[in-house]
Amino acid sequence: MNLEVDFNNVTYLIWLIVSLTFIIFFRYLVFSLSYHFTFFKLLKNRFSSRFLHKKKLQAKQYKKEIYWSAISGCIFGAVAVVFYYLYVNDYTLIYNSFSNNSWWYIPISIVLFLFLQDTYYYWAHRWMHLPKVYKYFHLVHHKSIHTSVFTSFSFHPFETILQAAFFPLIVLILPIHLYAFLTVLALMTVSATINHAGVEVYPSGKFGNWFQKWIIGASHHDKHHTKFNYNYGLYFTFWDRLMKTEYENDSN
Ligand SMILES: [Zn+2]
Ligand SMILES: [Zn+2]
Repeated sequence: MNLEVDFNNVTYLIWLIVSLTFIIFFRYLVFSLSYHFTFFKLLKNRFSSRFLHKKKLQAKQYKKEIYWSAISGCIFGAVAVVFYYLYVNDYTLIYNSFSNNSWWYIPISIVLFLFLQDTYYYWAHRWMHLPKVYKYFHLVHHKSIHTSVFTSFSFHPFETILQAAFFPLIVLILPIHLYAFLTVLALMTVSATINHAGVEVYPSGKFGNWFQKWIIGASHHDKHHTKFNYNYGLYFTFWDRLMKTEYENDSN
């Protein structure tokens, strides 16, 4: 790795943090707005039966969510610099060559990464729901009972640090191709938006039921915001099912 980076240059570091914050925050804004526009304006009639709530959300809620998300963008921007430092100094197990590992490892590493992130978040999430802990930071995310696309990045700064810290830590122990890692980042954005948008976009029918049994979507995460003590997972229902924290429509 031979990237010319001077991490001792404070001006350069500030420039790097500001640039990464800008990219991360605008990724969120552009993707959220596009998603919302697609399903609530363009395809509104086609998806109206899939809307999880009929109530129109207030502008006040959107503003608060974007405010917290802007702070989340700054934190992810700062953590991205730490990540970049580790990457360019070859501390991480991120690799660029396809010859280093077999092709079959690429999809495995993506699933493994998502599963480990899901595991990390499930238990951190359970901890943040403890009554003594909850009010200090996770409460910010739960202020949105009926969620919107903008809720997807709306967290208290401490929770954002907790979430962002996973990335520089996991790449120290998990070998992953750079493209696989970028795929994970894209999936994270897509999944967070889908799960908070307030519209179920996953298929129905036999395949849809099977898919939603294992993969978390809008209906699943919506129950976390409306019923509170269920459905803590991030991508997969695995931990909720194993720990019996999954909301069951008939029995709860
Ligand atoms: Zn929660
Ligand atoms: Zn949420």
